[in-house]
Amino acid sequence: MCYAIPGRIKGFEGKFVLVDYFGEERKAINELKGLHAGDYVYAQGGFVITRVSAKEAEATLSTWKDLFFELQEIDKEGSKLSPWGGARYTKVRDLKDKVVTGEKLTREETKYLLDIKDTGELDFLLNAANYIRQRHHSNSCCVHGIVEISNYCAEGCGYCGISCLNTGLKRYRMSADEIFEAVRSAVEDHGFKALVLQSGEDPSRTIDELVFIISEIKRRFGVLIFISFGEVGKSALSRLYEAGARGVLLRFETSDADLFARLHPGSTLEARLAEIRHANELGYLIITGALIGLPGQTSEMIARDIELAGELNVEMLSMGPFLPHPLTPMANVPAPSVAGIVKALAAARFALSSQVKTLVTTGLETLAPEARREALMAGANSVMLNVTPLERRALYEIYPGRAHQDDAIQTQITDTITLLEGLGRAPTDLSIGKQ
Ligand code: SF4
Repeated sequence: MCYAIPGRIKGFEGKFVLVDYFGEERKAINELKGLHAGDYVYAQGGFVITRVSAKEAEATLSTWKDLFFELQEIDKEGSKLSPWGGARYTKVRDLKDKVVTGEKLTREETKYLLDIKDTGELDFLLNAANYIRQRHHSNSCCVHGIVEISNYCAEGCGYCGISCLNTGLKRYRMSADEIFEAVRSAVEDHGFKALVLQSGEDPSRTIDELVFIISEIKRRFGVLIFISFGEVGKSALSRLYEAGARGVLLRFETSDADLFARLHPGSTLEARLAEIRHANELGYLIITGALIGLPGQTSEMIARDIELAGELNVEMLSMGPFLPHPLTPMANVPAPSVAGIVKALAAARFALSSQVKTLVTTGLETLAPEARREALMAGANSVMLNVTPLERRALYEIYPGRAHQDDAIQTQITDTITLLEGLGRAPTDLSIGKQ
């Protein structure tokens, strides 16, 4: 199973190519030389990432031909709006109508959704969020991989199990060759087309080394690369972009400056936002978002978190639960409920409807394995699979008992594809550049 469908180039428009997928046209930024109309390419996140031979493309397309439309029908059926819910819960229905006509919700309106307690109204909210997701993004669901290349970190974030405060943790730093092998396996053995490279703020991994690693991955594997190394600074962001990285995963965690300062000693929300804004200015795709369930957090703050993600031109929203780690200062803070997280994802789908892909975080799946399905039926349309070598994975212990910690890559893929196909979702990345 591939994680992107090859498309055929129909034409060019400045730096964009127009790509045809079974009669649907998408735009993607082209950075490859020598492409011509009629060539087949893979595109991810709005970038053409690699050319593909006509023979390979046609073989893949023939397996997708009927399935592509069958899945769309299943999804359309499963995301129909409940007429009963619409008649009964008129406020949510009216907000849905507002979103569908392209208007933005106010912060108060997002807060209203976050404050819903009645179970019937909540069910209708989730149903309507799924409906909005289908209208704006059709049935595509991003399936990216993540490689956790080092668990060293110089920072002391209060909620994080791999922070420098956890002196009992065994640390690892994958060598460049080990990273290349993990990426090779993800791309060549398993078909991933987009990968996140993640670590703590590892003081011993130089930017020169990261530049080398990224440029080699780009040269050898033709995959869309996201970086997630914490705050690296403007100059490093520029160098890593030049090396070939095209996305940044960096959550702001909370839009409340005081709460941020309490969680991140010695750091400020202002600096975090400046880093994300700079990455966006450089052309990076932005994955960002917040933690839900922080002490003192209110629905007003979460509404502001969602609004802030929109202001940061977020490509993929990552809003996951705070999960306590026993060896952190926040060990005794309880985790939030699954229902609260899924409600926040649904509210975010309303507030940022056409703009974002919404991620089902590993944190949510750790709270409850069935929550992946619940979130996908409440407006979410992205998942990340852990492709870190198994012997390393357990040591990236940002919180205990992470979902999929012991699952082989193929097991994760099989489970994900089974779930997605059952919901009528295609594990593709076609929504960016939709015309
Ligand atoms: S959240 Fe990130 S920066 Fe903070 S301690 Fe954990 S790995 Fe380090």
